[in-house]
Amino acid sequence: MEYETIAAISTPMGEGAIAIVRLSGSEAVEIADRLYKGKQALNSVDSHTIHYGHLIDPDTDEVAEEVMVSLMRGPRTFTREDIVEINCHGGLVSVNRVLELVLRSGARLAEPGEFTKRAFLNGRIDLSQAEAVIDLIRAKTDRAMNVALNQMEGRLSTLIAKLRQQLLETVAHVEVNIDYPEYDAEEMTQNLLTSQLKEVEEEIKSILITARQGKILREGLSTVIVGRPNVGKSSLLNSLVHENKAIVTDVPGTTRDVIEEYVNVRGVPLRLVDTAGIRETEDLVERIGVERSRERLKQADLILLVLNYNDELTDEDKKLFEAVAGMDVIVIVNKTDLDEKLDLSKVKELAEEHPMITTSLKNEEGVDELEKSISELFFAGSVESQDLTYVSNSRHIALLEQSRKTLEDALGAVEAGMPVDMVQIDITRTWELLGEIIGDTVSDSLIDQLFSQFCLGK
Ligand code: GDP
Ligand code: ZN
Repeated sequence: MEYETIAAISTPMGEGAIAIVRLSGSEAVEIADRLYKGKQALNSVDSHTIHYGHLIDPDTDEVAEEVMVSLMRGPRTFTREDIVEINCHGGLVSVNRVLELVLRSGARLAEPGEFTKRAFLNGRIDLSQAEAVIDLIRAKTDRAMNVALNQMEGRLSTLIAKLRQQLLETVAHVEVNIDYPEYDAEEMTQNLLTSQLKEVEEEIKSILITARQGKILREGLSTVIVGRPNVGKSSLLNSLVHENKAIVTDVPGTTRDVIEEYVNVRGVPLRLVDTAGIRETEDLVERIGVERSRERLKQADLILLVLNYNDELTDEDKKLFEAVAGMDVIVIVNKTDLDEKLDLSKVKELAEEHPMITTSLKNEEGVDELEKSISELFFAGSVESQDLTYVSNSRHIALLEQSRKTLEDALGAVEAGMPVDMVQIDITRTWELLGEIIGDTVSDSLIDQLFSQFCLGK
């Protein structure tokens, strides 16, 4: 089979010691040979070897670059096609010159994600692994990186494949009963059907439980700081941002109407939402209106509710407690360096089971405890374990939710004594939905859409 040869810069843009231009396709070696001059022509060297030499500009016959060229023949490559990687000096000028040379010699510029797309289309990786590559590119903390790596190694795929196999076997039994009613050696009784489906449902549920943590790792824990004017919201924001490494956000294609800042608090990526509101107008409610600010609060994963130790509890404070009822809240009593005017026992009552932290942001006291409390809230117990297969992709989560629903329908149908062929429709649908996660039953347009999210050169 012929594969058009594509090329792209596959190292990050900017100043690095070396940069790599990668070619993949049927003519990768031939195209590189048109430019490369070294001891041996590349088409005569062994696969998976690296060679020193120079690139010669065919128009001027002058040396354009000093390079190391790796040659890997398919199918033992990432794309399963022939791959040539040209290592050149870092820096935009030289790497762009190399790219330009290979394009002039017959390669086509790769579309975003096209290398990974080929790996998928050539059967090298499945869809969930391909998506993990996107996550990897965007991973904001080391922990998020590990989750993406796990997924790339196919943990989720293995789990999903197992569940699909179970469903397939169930369907097969049902089929036997429909097609050969006289063959009653292993009749699919209502109880057996129920227990098999329940088993799969339980597995899906437990995957979904990890999904929340996965989403947080991937997108950041959306966090809103609330409190009356002057209690110390800006001070809190500043100390969180300054004491922690701010995470640079460069997620392409996401326009948001809110200003956000990312910080990494002990492995939890906090996405501090509406920081503009805190920094500029000081008053979220005034700025975006009561209704919208309430909505925004409801969408948050975490609320940091700040109170003033040096002031009495007001109705406004109490209203804030009401507004965040039922959410994950950490109550922060600030300005403990000043006199106690706040009724702490009353605050404890309002805080109920939520953690309460005292701080003096002025003296930089209490921020450590706050950070500890944040990480405990989200990585309590086993969730921290690296063995967990987090589902961190919202498309996967949606498909798993749908799968769970169709399985519930199937179970309901069995209970209601519906004919087995009716139940079979729901089971087959579940099998298809799970298949979409690993790309077994997806349509072309979905694939195109997914791969277009990749960065160039991956
Ligand atoms: P915001 O209106 O809620 O954003 O509050 P700010 O962070 O702007 O703080 C209001 C004032 O309180 C500023 O003058 C801060 O320097 C001061 N402040 C903040 N934290 C503390 C603290 O722990 N102790 C004292 N004494 N003053 C503080
Ligand atoms: Zn302020």
